[in-house]
Amino acid sequence: MVGDDAVIEGATGSWEVVIGLEVHAQVISDAKLFSGAATAFGAEPNTQVSFIDAAMPGTLPVINEACVAQAVRTGLGLNAEINRYSVFDRKNYFYPDLPPNYQISQYAQPVVGPGMVRVDLEDGSVREVGIERLHLEQDAGKSLHDRRPDATCVDLNRAGVALMEIVSRPDLRGVGEAGAYIRKLRAILRYLGTCDGNMEQGSLRCDVNVSVRRPGAPLGTRCEIKNVNSVRFVQQAIDYEARRQIDILEGGGEIEQETRLFDADRGVTRSMRRKEEAHDYRYFPDPDLLPLELSDAYIDAIRAGLPELPDQKKVRFVEQLGLSEYDAGVLVAEKEVADYFERVADGREAKTASNWVTGELFGKLNESGREITDSPVSPDDLGDLIDLVADGTLSGRLAKEVFDAMFESGRPPGEIVEERGLEQVSDRGEIEALVDTVVGENADKVEEYRAGKDKLFGFFVGQVMKASQGRANPKVVNDILRQKLD
Ligand code: ADP
Ligand code: MG
Repeated sequence: MVGDDAVIEGATGSWEVVIGLEVHAQVISDAKLFSGAATAFGAEPNTQVSFIDAAMPGTLPVINEACVAQAVRTGLGLNAEINRYSVFDRKNYFYPDLPPNYQISQYAQPVVGPGMVRVDLEDGSVREVGIERLHLEQDAGKSLHDRRPDATCVDLNRAGVALMEIVSRPDLRGVGEAGAYIRKLRAILRYLGTCDGNMEQGSLRCDVNVSVRRPGAPLGTRCEIKNVNSVRFVQQAIDYEARRQIDILEGGGEIEQETRLFDADRGVTRSMRRKEEAHDYRYFPDPDLLPLELSDAYIDAIRAGLPELPDQKKVRFVEQLGLSEYDAGVLVAEKEVADYFERVADGREAKTASNWVTGELFGKLNESGREITDSPVSPDDLGDLIDLVADGTLSGRLAKEVFDAMFESGRPPGEIVEERGLEQVSDRGEIEALVDTVVGENADKVEEYRAGKDKLFGFFVGQVMKASQGRANPKVVNDILRQKLD
């Protein structure tokens, strides 16, 4: 099944939009792929550069085992084959931010082979997207064009940082699926702890391959849009690019395979260069590095340490906690949300916890533009609030009031309840006194009620609740009123 936006109506009929994504994910690692230099984001330019990263003569790369483990971990999380034997190649090109004039990457023999990601679509259906491969490679440095009017500066902090390039098959159709795929992939990486997924900082960037075809026809010629760094931009780029290609084809032209850039300010793609072919890069195995050989025991040990991933967590939430597919899907989509929810639900009714998190909490977070990680209400405090409802201290209505105050002040529910005197009153004597007052003040209504006007019962309940400033336990109020009136 394909989404609504997978097909675009042109002047001469329908076109299907076909997408394949190459995602560059920065590996979480303290040191770079082949040097001991640090990888922290935002450091002063050129303060995290080893002689190797600067390509000084006489230096030799040494593989960082932690990065290999991260790649294997990611491969396992993507249900992929792990290759026991892989090779690092030199990909040769000249660029000012690439001191050696080649990038160490993997080409014919990557560390991770074919795999699969399950993508949850908006209509509730699931699409399995093929992964072609995952390989390890070095990032380049960064050219800074805005530091000096007369020169381009180069910051090599990023040079040599480990990237995983995760290549999907051309299995995606339309912008909705492409967005859902990126979000799911990002979630898996973050659950695994192999990439922080921070798109603004460039830890996750996409090369977007787009082609169009008549439904059922063979794949069309694709264009590749380089380095797009947000889900929204990926979607805008696909939409623009698909329409551009359709216009050309409907005008009788042909698509030239090329590399394009996305101009985020104008929302258009522009030609950057003719697509280079693999042979242009003069790939060859890096003579400074041995092939990477992994034992079964090594891979099994990493497999044994994998955390519960979103798909498994969702199944558990549905089957063991009794949540709906929809709620479970929402709760597992972000690791931080799942963690938060599980803390709230620990020892409590899961459905109630889920309602509070996806209802009240999400509502407030949305309103205030905050992430769950900076929620003023901690999961433990939300849990305490739920307990106060469960043990009858707070009515549901007052609990919402307390929650709002918790969100505003960051204070625990107990303090707020005490300070505002919000405890629900269940004491029969206290409520009976209120009932007596209300009954006494409304003798005429009591008569009408007793004469058969049943509807008036609600009026009495309302009066007693009002007299208690909303704190009376409604069940007790009902009980006592029935006693007195009937
Ligand atoms: P390269 O390494 O030259 O970029 P690949 O064969 O590795 O080429 O493909 C790169 C990406 O292009 C993959 O994500 C793949 O799914 C995608 N792709 C290949 N053919 C098409 C097509 N006809 N339309 C859209 N995407 C495609
Ligand atoms: Mg490519």
